[in-house]
Amino acid sequence: MLQTLRERGQGRRESGGFLLGRSVEGRRYVTDFIAYDDIDPNALQGIIVFDASKLDALWAHLEREGLEVVADVHTHPGGYRQSGTDQAHPMIPRRGHLAMIVPNFADRDYRPGEIGLYEYQGRDGWRDHSALGPTFLRLEWIS
Ligand SMILES: [Zn+2]
Repeated sequence: MLQTLRERGQGRRESGGFLLGRSVEGRRYVTDFIAYDDIDPNALQGIIVFDASKLDALWAHLEREGLEVVADVHTHPGGYRQSGTDQAHPMIPRRGHLAMIVPNFADRDYRPGEIGLYEYQGRDGWRDHSALGPTFLRLEWIS
């Protein structure tokens, strides 16, 4: 995923996408990733400008496969703090949705603890889990 973000952003523009998978007993498992510019070819304009009407095909795909969007991710030119725009415009405006931010246009691989982890809380704003790092986001392959 980070390699895709790195390639799509070319070190000069933000890139991003949706992490797809399933929620089981309060844990989210990621099985797939789709980049924003695979959904909307015009999404990467320096910042991400996403045509939400293009999501119809994604919803249909998720329904067919029995999957859901478990998180989104995008890169920043600098640090991983949310911008005012990020806070005002969650990609999936549903309580519990997780937004991840990778710094420095994902110029290298980053581990939990080095990226932003923000959980949308509806009208209550966002919870910042970034400092929890690997306690919150575990990277391991499961079969
Ligand atoms: Zn952002």
